Amino acid sequence: MKARRAIIPVFVPHLGCPHRCVFCDQRRVSGAQSPATARDVRRAVEEGLARSNPETPPTLAFYGGSFTAIPRARQRELLEAAQPYIRSGAIADIRLSTRPDAVDAETLDFLRAYGVRTVELGVQSMDDEVLRLSGRGHTAGDAEKAAAHVKAAGFELILQMMTGLPGDTREKSLMTARRFTELSPHGVRLYPTVILRDTPLYDLWRAGLYRENTVEEAVDWCAEISELFDAAHIPIVRLGLNPTDDLSAGEAVAGAYHPALGELVLSRRYLTRERALLTKRDRGADILFAVPPGRTSAATGQKRANIEALKAEYALKTVKFLERPLPDLTVERIIP
Ligand code: SF4
Repeated sequence: MKARRAIIPVFVPHLGCPHRCVFCDQRRVSGAQSPATARDVRRAVEEGLARSNPETPPTLAFYGGSFTAIPRARQRELLEAAQPYIRSGAIADIRLSTRPDAVDAETLDFLRAYGVRTVELGVQSMDDEVLRLSGRGHTAGDAEKAAAHVKAAGFELILQMMTGLPGDTREKSLMTARRFTELSPHGVRLYPTVILRDTPLYDLWRAGLYRENTVEEAVDWCAEISELFDAAHIPIVRLGLNPTDDLSAGEAVAGAYHPALGELVLSRRYLTRERALLTKRDRGADILFAVPPGRTSAATGQKRANIEALKAEYALKTVKFLERPLPDLTVERIIP
C-alpha cells in the first residue's frame, strides 16, 4: 500500500488577514504565537524531513493565515525558503490556505512557479448573511469565483466550511455543503464552530447575542453533511479542530469542541443505519448486526451510546455486533 504523504505545517497566524473574523484566533488554534519567517520554514522542513519516510516526500503547508493576501515580498520570502527542498525532491509540493477574495489568475501563476499544488479556501458558509454576521468580509459569490479560478488553473482545491456560525441554521449548512459539491473540490474540511476565549464571538456569546451549537447538535448536522459529501465522492480531509492541550484546558470555552468529534460523527452515521434496520415490532428482541472490519467501536458508539439509544427507542433486550467483510458504513442485520 502506498504510504500517505506527511504534511509539514508552518503557521502564519493571521498574516495577510485584512481583519479578524469573529470566531477566529489562529494563535490559540495552532499554538504558534508569531508568523513564521524564512528561517522558521527551513527549520520546520529540516525537522519534518528527519521524521518522514524518504520514499514518500512530504508536503509543506502554510496554514493559519490568508497566504495570498500577505504582501508579495513576504510570500516570496517564505516560498523561496522551500525551493531548495522542492528542487531536490525532498519536499513533494506546497499547499496553503487563504481567503476567497484574495485569489486571482495572476496570484495563481505566481504560486504555481513556486511548487504550490493545493489551495485551500476558507469559505465557511455559502450564505451571505452568515458571512456578514461572522465578519468574513467576502461573499458566497467571491467563493464561487475563487474556486473556479483555482480549479481552472489546475490546482487541487480544498474547501473549508464551518457549521453553527452566527445566523447559521441546519438548512443553511446543508445548503453550503450542497453548493460545495457543485464546485467539485478535491476535498473539504468541516469545522463546527468553537467559541474561543477573548474572540468577538466569545463577547457576543457572553452578551447573550449568539447561541452556540452544542457538540450533540454539531454531530447531528455533520453526520448529515458527511452523507452529502460521501455521495458526491468528496473526501472530508478533516472534521473538527485539531485537539490541543490549550483548547482542552479551557481555551475552547463553549460550542462544538470535542477531541474526538470525527469519531462521534462516524458513530452517528452508524446509528442512523442501525435504526433503519429496526421497527417497533422488534420489542424485547436480541439484535445482531454485521459491520465492516474494525468498525465495531464506531457502531457501538462512545460509552455504548448507540446501543443504549437503540435499546431505549425500540425496547430491545440486547444489541450485539460482529465484523464481516462489508464496505465501510454498511450495516446488515443478522436474523438467526
Ligand atoms: S478565519 Fe481566516 S481570514 Fe478570518 S481571521 Fe482567521 S485566518 Fe484570517
